Amino acid sequence: MNDRPLGRRQFMRYSAAGVALTASSRAIAQAHAIPQPEPAHTEGPVTIRCDVLVVGGGTAGIIAAIQAGRIGAETFLLERNSQLGGAMTTGGVSFPGLFDAWGKQIIAGIGWELVRESVELDGGAFPDFSQVPDRHWKNQVRINPFLYALLAEEKCEQAGVEIAYYEFPQAVRRTTNGWQVDCAGFGTRRRVLCKQIVDCTGGADVVSMLNLPRFRSEETQPGSILFKLDTAHNPGRPNGPGSGLLDSVYIHGADSSNSRTATAANLQGRKAVLTKVRTTKQRLMHLQPEAGFRESYRIQGETVITVEDYTSGRVFDDAVCYAFYPVDLHTRSGVTPKPLARGTVPTVPLRALVPKGSRNLMVAGRSVSSDRLANSGLRVQASCMAMGQVAGVAAALAVAENTTPLKVPLKDIQDMLRQHGAIVPAAS
Ligand SMILES: Cc1cc2nc3c(=O)[nH]c(=O)nc-3n(C[C@H](O)[C@H](O)[C@H](O)COP(=O)(O)OP(=O)(O)OC[C@H]3O[C@@H](n4cnc5c(N)ncnc54)[C@H](O)[C@@H]3O)c2cc1C
Repeated sequence: MNDRPLGRRQFMRYSAAGVALTASSRAIAQAHAIPQPEPAHTEGPVTIRCDVLVVGGGTAGIIAAIQAGRIGAETFLLERNSQLGGAMTTGGVSFPGLFDAWGKQIIAGIGWELVRESVELDGGAFPDFSQVPDRHWKNQVRINPFLYALLAEEKCEQAGVEIAYYEFPQAVRRTTNGWQVDCAGFGTRRRVLCKQIVDCTGGADVVSMLNLPRFRSEETQPGSILFKLDTAHNPGRPNGPGSGLLDSVYIHGADSSNSRTATAANLQGRKAVLTKVRTTKQRLMHLQPEAGFRESYRIQGETVITVEDYTSGRVFDDAVCYAFYPVDLHTRSGVTPKPLARGTVPTVPLRALVPKGSRNLMVAGRSVSSDRLANSGLRVQASCMAMGQVAGVAAALAVAENTTPLKVPLKDIQDMLRQHGAIVPAAS
């Protein structure tokens, strides 16, 4: 290649050709110009009517939506990310627990169906629930999160659930028959007119928009970002190359309250991963797209589950599902899980899924009404799925009976849960 500067005459020749070329390409573009529609974001709102709106398509929300759909409620599922699964898929926490306690299964139903099918399709392995492990985490189920997200979409479709990705509610207003929820997504403004809402956002976002009370501790547990150095990640497989859990770093002060705080948590987590790569000189083979948040807001429900309720295995009058996990509070110095006493299996009452003073609104998942220590055990995935199924049943039956979930006879909710494979605690 000749690097010599162009002579003046040569430069004139080249630039003249350039001018001619630019002029002719402009003419071609004009000849082919077609009228463009208005930018999508200026379109008027799309209005849809449904029976049940589930906000948040994560661990609990998927199950709530499938359940409501299977009962026959027209169900709409709003998820601000691009796939289903929440913490289980996008967050990379793909080892749900715990479906068993003290040698037998205590959580089943739609969550278990989805987990079981994803393990079977992936050729994975199940823990033996008849064995009581020496460490609780040994009975968590390893799933392939990619497959789980696909199966969740398929099951939503089969249940007639309509999914909207990239959308979230901006304003919620009571109407005579239910709710008007104004949602935004890129290029989309949508008005949802529904009878019941199930808030499965993990942080009770809808509850907050309605100015209903939520709890948040001054200090919250750290979040984490999950990654893998050196070996390719082989999800779902307990053995073999790349198997095992992802690595993680704590994100102290991680706060999922809003887009600004969540951005800060993600930046902090990714910076820590980059530092790890530099200091260990290993290759970064896997990085989850989003940080996971262990703790944010809990609703103040009609009942608040205390740590004494949780650790004593209180069977509430309106118990609708079990939960099982040690009290598991992560702090700056790590975590020392406190296992439950042998034979103890906590229960979740229906009223802990109903925001105090609300109508036609349920919550399921991490933001269940509970004190901080009880929540550190209740927040795990199998329990969130069980709560999701309860909320789906209660919301769908409330639609069918034209009432609010707490006015549906408890027996109807419990019977319907059993019909759909869930395990309901027996009254004590
Ligand atoms: C690092 C880490 C390790 C963990 N370890 C374990 C473990 O070993 N075993 C275990 O079982 N559990 C574990 N957990 C806990 C468990 O993963 C979560 O508590 C549980 O998955 C929460 O479920 P959820 O349905 O409440 O929320 P998520 O699964 O987080 O779902 C919430 C969904 O709502 C969407 N969303 C949020 N806000 C809006 C909005 N305004 N509009 C629309 N969509 C919205 C989110 O995008 C997300 O998809 C861990 C959690 C973390 C973070």
